[in-house]
Amino acid sequence: MINKIGFIGLGTMGRHMAANLLKAGFPLVVYDAVPEAARGAAEDGAIQANSVAEVGDQSDAVILMLPNTPDVQSVVYGAGGLLEHPPARRLIVDMSTISPVAARQMSADLAARQMAFVDAPVSGGPIGAENASLTIMAGGDGAAFELAKPVLRAMGAAVTHVGHSGAGQTLKLCNQLICGINIQAICEALALARASGLDLNLLREVLQAGSAGSWMLDKLGPSMIARDTQAGFRIDLMLKDLKLVQELAFELAVPLPATSLVTTQYLDARVHREGSNGNQALFTVYDRMANQAAS
Ligand code: NAD
Repeated sequence: MINKIGFIGLGTMGRHMAANLLKAGFPLVVYDAVPEAARGAAEDGAIQANSVAEVGDQSDAVILMLPNTPDVQSVVYGAGGLLEHPPARRLIVDMSTISPVAARQMSADLAARQMAFVDAPVSGGPIGAENASLTIMAGGDGAAFELAKPVLRAMGAAVTHVGHSGAGQTLKLCNQLICGINIQAICEALALARASGLDLNLLREVLQAGSAGSWMLDKLGPSMIARDTQAGFRIDLMLKDLKLVQELAFELAVPLPATSLVTTQYLDARVHREGSNGNQALFTVYDRMANQAAS
């Protein structure tokens, strides 16, 4: 059984997930490269470590919630990393969204050192993280998943073992391409409705009750209508995910035309220095296009 949990990466998502682990009664050791990010968890009762090594040395299993593949690799393979400082139950659960190929490689490298690695990325955004209602898709060895399950259940409403190592990440990439294309579709519908003089809030309510309803329309629709660009999930993170989708598609020779289009749209946002906006703010790109078409 896992009791004391190490948690590395207390940003937008991690800080809520850590809070839910504390609420569920798990003692926690936390670390973030930016110490202020871990302060909230420390105030709630977690031990604030000064390094990755301290986290590994003091916990039964370690959870990672970091931005990208190189961040996870540095915490695992780097000097003073978890390979050198394994937790007592020799289990690492990576809940970040990273490359499935890198996840499989890490799993093999850790297995060679008698350590287990579960890739368990999440869907549900900061709201899901706060409410402990995340959808968690886990890949890896079945016994390692069973060991991690009670911990994952404290953070998510749906916790599913979806297959071999890397399968969680692959499933998450499928999730991301659907989300990105869905946001683009909502931008287009809102633009058409706005130009037609429709009541956009009413439109959203009616569509949400019908076959065009979606998580994106429900949760992000209001800020798209209000032209609120504030970030929950940053455009830069969406681009990171869409790049991972494209890399996998290239490797497997699977054409993804709609993903390619929406990736270009998000790249346009980055070119206009909008990478730190929330992913719903794709409407700024659409607005530019529409204005250009009108002029
Ligand atoms: P974030 O950037 O807000 O938080 C990441 C945290 O990790 C930061 O506090 C940062 O200081 C810390 N960090 C970075 N490198 C580190 C290192 N080497 N050692 C220790 N700490 C380090 O990111 P986020 O929005 O919380 O997302 C985390 C992961 O979850 C990403 O992979 C993202 O794609 C995924 N995700 C995010 C959302 C969302 O809505 N934000 C939803 C689902 C999945």
